[in-house]
Amino acid sequence: MFGQASRELAQAVADSGYRPDLILSIARGGLFVAGSLGYALDVKNLHVMNVEFYTGVDQRLDMPVMLPPVPNAVDLSGARVLVADDVADTGATLKLVRDFCADHVADVRCAVIYEKPRTMVECEYVWRRTDRWINFPWSTLPPVVQHERQVLDA
Ligand code: 5GP
Repeated sequence: MFGQASRELAQAVADSGYRPDLILSIARGGLFVAGSLGYALDVKNLHVMNVEFYTGVDQRLDMPVMLPPVPNAVDLSGARVLVADDVADTGATLKLVRDFCADHVADVRCAVIYEKPRTMVECEYVWRRTDRWINFPWSTLPPVVQHERQVLDA
């Protein structure tokens, strides 16, 4: 299913005439989509932005936060950018990334496998729309390891 979805998403980008210079993936869920789009669109220039928002099924932080390393604005400068993510739910993650790009790039468009109706960012390229929680093969099962997290008292 994912193979077909990402292929059809790439076809939609190509059919629209958009020729991205680089693909900016939103980690972690967007990495899979970005890699597939990179092959299908013959784009080797892939960048990553780490954004944390969801901590569980429909459990979110107050707002999405960028985690380091943040992409170098010079690398994006003047480029046609395709932002790739697995799903636009509230759209807050994509808004953060889009706003980050807006000042630097020539054009920025978003591609997602799924888009939900409440999104605040309308993606240019969407494979399917749903209002349900989606289970992706890479994030459904819990991690196979447990980290001991250190809690520091202020
Ligand atoms: P947003 O900022 O649009 O609310 O959420 C963006 C991120 O939250 C997605 O990239 C994804 O990691 C996570 N997310 C939102 N909705 C879903 C969902 O239905 N299923 C899964 N597995 N992740 C989701």
